[in-house]
Amino acid sequence: MGVPCYRCGVRQTDPERGKSPWRRGVMHDQLVLICPACQESADWTAELERCAKCRSAHLIRRLGQVECLDCGLVREPESSLVPIGGPDSAGSAPDPAATALADEVGRALDRLLGRR
Ligand SMILES: [Zn+2]
Ligand SMILES: [Zn+2]
Repeated sequence: MGVPCYRCGVRQTDPERGKSPWRRGVMHDQLVLICPACQESADWTAELERCAKCRSAHLIRRLGQVECLDCGLVREPESSLVPIGGPDSAGSAPDPAATALADEVGRALDRLLGRR
């Protein structure tokens, strides 16, 4: 994706999808990446923001919010009210309203076709 490590500036080279040894964090309301080499320093999370609830540094920024990946706490950013970035289509939960609508359409179809 071309985002360099925020500490040493090395760029992510692993093109494979799936589990990456790089870690994400949030600093000054920005998503940052930390390369595996920098994670070996004991204080690599020292500059990262921490979850207000569980003190984890395992945070990500998405849809204009900061989310804790350990306890799930979502925090609205103080600095900006305008969400940065588009909708996160990957891994998003199904919309309950859309699911209800689909159920209703299914029942209507069943009635139409004489099924129960
Ligand atoms: Zn690094
Ligand atoms: Zn947390």
